[in-house]
Amino acid sequence: MENWWILYFLCFSFYGMSQERCYVPTHQEALSLSDPNFLLDQANREAILARQSNAFARNGALTIPVVFHLVGISGSYFPSDQLVLSQLDVLNEDYGFQNANKDQTPLEVENLAVDMGLRFCLATSDPDGMPTSGIIRTVTDFDCLGNISQVKVGDRPRLYYEDLGGSQAWDPDRYLNIWVTNTCGIYLGFSTFPGTAIPAEDGIIIDPKYFGRSTASGPIPPYNLGRTLTHEVGHYFNLIHIWGNTGCDGDDLVEDTPNQENFYLGCPLYPSSSCGSPDFFFNFMDYSDDNCMTMFTRGQRQRVWNSIAAFRPTLLRDLGCDEIISNSALLVYPNPARDILYFQFNGEPGPIELNIFDSAGRYIFNAQFKNEGARWVDVWDWANGVYFFESVDQKYQGKFIIFN
Ligand SMILES: [Zn+2]
Repeated sequence: MENWWILYFLCFSFYGMSQERCYVPTHQEALSLSDPNFLLDQANREAILARQSNAFARNGALTIPVVFHLVGISGSYFPSDQLVLSQLDVLNEDYGFQNANKDQTPLEVENLAVDMGLRFCLATSDPDGMPTSGIIRTVTDFDCLGNISQVKVGDRPRLYYEDLGGSQAWDPDRYLNIWVTNTCGIYLGFSTFPGTAIPAEDGIIIDPKYFGRSTASGPIPPYNLGRTLTHEVGHYFNLIHIWGNTGCDGDDLVEDTPNQENFYLGCPLYPSSSCGSPDFFFNFMDYSDDNCMTMFTRGQRQRVWNSIAAFRPTLLRDLGCDEIISNSALLVYPNPARDILYFQFNGEPGPIELNIFDSAGRYIFNAQFKNEGARWVDVWDWANGVYFFESVDQKYQGKFIIFN
């Protein structure tokens, strides 16, 4: 597409400065310059992926707990809870191919559009097992924390560190971390790719002006339908921009998406072509307006699932966001559980020994927890059903459900 830069100028001069739709290309270029191993590591990750067979082979979607870190200076715009929920709805619709505009997908390629098999929920328990809304609001002294390449102390971007005025990541092995914070007009959204960031800095950043879905107030059109986050979550699970970032020679490493010369802005008409084929400007991994994006492809789903299996495998435990059992002194979660069941004792220093029985009262398992450290039971091979537990000192009793 020859006129992309004119469109770029038209759209972005709106905000008085050039603003990137997505910060990923700039950030990756900086990484490749500063880290001599960056390109090699990238090639190694692709080699690992190539050995992965099709990981998308399950019934039912995988649900990922999300924590939103809303960070801003006093008096700045913090999206409402309602807007956070609208954003979650957008993710679930887009990743389920249940979006209201899915019929805008051109007929010729409709057969490629899929339910990605991913769903998203607000985390219900924090890393310490305490109940949470999954929405954290932090007032900071620093504007523009989203400018992570500049606003930092040493190697540590302030955004990710509580002691520097930011909000600490929750363990990315269990949660998807999304920081909603001012980027000072540098970009709309950004995400780390699997294996490219330390756990404390692994996640997505989005400017509050492009967060959530609302046609009334809040996010700014044409990026007001929540698709900036849909796009960035794609990166988080290893999807590359649909045009491959480097002209007709570039590739997004997905088989069923045609080569494309560059990104699209605005809302092109189908077919719009480059590199000898109609382009997928309606794909979530392009830069078109929110109301013109409609789908992910089957090939993108395969890349996402293989990437989860290879690089973010702990998410496959599917801890979800189910309600936790609480008798104030003890939390047991998730419930129902599959794979792993966590016990969180509050204010209990000593060793604890639990006996677990099935619903018929038959003894099943003895769990001994030392003073500190992990208090969990591996239940992946347990039969589905209701179980009861009781501590040896009879201080704790309760029940939980296994649903593998
Ligand atoms: Zn992007």
